[in-house]
Amino acid sequence: MSYFAKEEKEPKKLEWGESPFDNMTRDELIRHCQRLYMANERLQDVANLFRANDTENPFWKSGRGARAVEMGKQAVDLVKVGFDAESLHRNFFRFAADLLFEDRPGLEIHSRWVACPKCGHVLVPAKESLRFDGVECKEVVPNTTCDGLLRPIEWVDLTPTPKKTEHDLEIMRV
Ligand SMILES: [Zn+2]
Repeated sequence: MSYFAKEEKEPKKLEWGESPFDNMTRDELIRHCQRLYMANERLQDVANLFRANDTENPFWKSGRGARAVEMGKQAVDLVKVGFDAESLHRNFFRFAADLLFEDRPGLEIHSRWVACPKCGHVLVPAKESLRFDGVECKEVVPNTTCDGLLRPIEWVDLTPTPKKTEHDLEIMRV
């Protein structure tokens, strides 16, 4: 996430009408939205947990806590409109933390998803203590003889194989 981490000696002052997002490419902006979405969802989970245990507290009924949860909810809900929640999770957000965030010393965020560059299998260790990266595919993927070396998941693993166009199909028929 280099776009915010520019090592400026003096923090840049924003002029009227400027924002910290102005110099991002489209891809950087999308990644940043994804980070904000995911972080917001996780923070919502935590806030809702505290709120559920303290429902009569004015902080959670109408105070700052209630307003913060509502803001987060409105932001996240907007993304979910028109998309099936399960497919949104399966296609993207179950992998996202491994790609969008960095682990900090002493705090592991990643689930340790790995992919096989040879056969395309993507999997995650069932136990946090296990590590699959660098392991031969056939050692952990059932019913395969693939000897590809598993590596941490990358964005390319989430990119579907492009569908063949009509033109491609025509060429194949010839
Ligand atoms: Zn493999």
